[in-house]
Amino acid sequence: MQNSLFYNKLYAWYESNHRILPWRETENAYHIWLSEVILQQTRVAQGLSYYLRFVERWPCVEDLAEAEETEVLREWQGLGYYSRARNLHKAAQMIVAKGWSPFPTRFEDLWALPGVGEYTAGAIASFAYNAPYPAMDGNVYRVVARLLDIEEAFDTTAGKKLFHKQIEDMLDRDNARLFNSAIMEFGALYCTPVLGDACVSCPLQSFCAGFAHGIADLLPVRKPRAKVRDRWLTYHVYVQRDNVQGTTDAVYTLIQRRENPKDIWYHLYEFPCEEHSSQPSAISHQLSFTHVLSHQKIHARFIVHPVPKMPEIPGTMIIRWEDLNDYALSRLTLRALDTLQHKA
Ligand code: SF4
Repeated sequence: MQNSLFYNKLYAWYESNHRILPWRETENAYHIWLSEVILQQTRVAQGLSYYLRFVERWPCVEDLAEAEETEVLREWQGLGYYSRARNLHKAAQMIVAKGWSPFPTRFEDLWALPGVGEYTAGAIASFAYNAPYPAMDGNVYRVVARLLDIEEAFDTTAGKKLFHKQIEDMLDRDNARLFNSAIMEFGALYCTPVLGDACVSCPLQSFCAGFAHGIADLLPVRKPRAKVRDRWLTYHVYVQRDNVQGTTDAVYTLIQRRENPKDIWYHLYEFPCEEHSSQPSAISHQLSFTHVLSHQKIHARFIVHPVPKMPEIPGTMIIRWEDLNDYALSRLTLRALDTLQHKA
């Protein structure tokens, strides 16, 4: 659909409606990469403050490469999907080691970075260098599915290939930066999952096969969702108070680091944890809640144990309660801390 009237309508809409976002106002590839990784699975409103903090703390890729992994995880805290933060750090080290600073310019080198898939490589190449690559995020899949009436699921291997071919044909190769920005923003703000009466006054309506066939709001199609797995965790919050001459001097607790790279929250810290294979019998606990991740539903309960002396549990370490925030903690642990702070 390479058609100058289509581009003109899309760009005119973009000029009048787009949001001012710091990563769209720069051609600094490192900053654009940071924003793309932060915004994977994260809403713009939430990702913005993380982006600003990362750019301020590590203004160039060399700075990020020199950071400790634990500092990066700490700064990432609350965003979830921590493998993104670990990959960010590994990629920065790879860029420096390979002499690609300030940032790789070839699409193949971008794609070779840990955590950078075809979409992110295309986004960086087009936004930073105006190179003719598409950037397919969820918003773009939706707009393309509707414009071209594609009824194949977009999240299967065959579907991805088909969509990729279509967007390659649609791409404005001389203006990839503008085209990708505009179509993403159009999906984010106008051609949204719930359409309402947007189609009625849509500037792209005359190009939209989904609208012409009356099925735009049924698109895009997804493959059926994977089943969500239930997990039951009991956390033991040991609290030891040291009293010096009758006054409370310090409060200590025990934490451990999660060491299974194939499991959630790898390398994050939490209270000693016991996992049950099925729903455990009820016992008295101080706090419980359900924490939902993409493929897992965590049923967590926390038991506070006031102790005169810490038990010896392999793999744990004793820290001051007030130092808990110096460690990269899972979101679940942070949620629990909101309540437990008052009990320790
Ligand atoms: Fe999206 Fe409706 Fe416009 Fe088609 S007509 S592009 S479905 S808003």
